[in-house]
Amino acid sequence: MIDYNKKMIYEEVTVKNKQDYYAQNNPFVEDRFNEKVCCLHCDDEFIFDEFKVIRNKTTNEEYIACKHFPECNGTIIDFMPADYKTR
Ligand SMILES: [Zn+2]
Repeated sequence: MIDYNKKMIYEEVTVKNKQDYYAQNNPFVEDRFNEKVCCLHCDDEFIFDEFKVIRNKTTNEEYIACKHFPECNGTIIDFMPADYKTR
């Protein structure tokens, strides 16, 4: 289900170098760039660097979001290691 309201609030940001973007915004997080992750919202697995960057049009805050935005509500805090269920 597409949340049209969310599409009005957020716009997708084109990021040329996602690895740089991620490093600048998450300087204290260990490198997980090529890690396979599972989004808790849509339960889909993907490589972390497939994330999308979205911006709140009102506040200009940017978020790392699920590759399935805007169909999925997931953001970086919903990304679990792909094998988290079996750990
Ligand atoms: Zn998702």
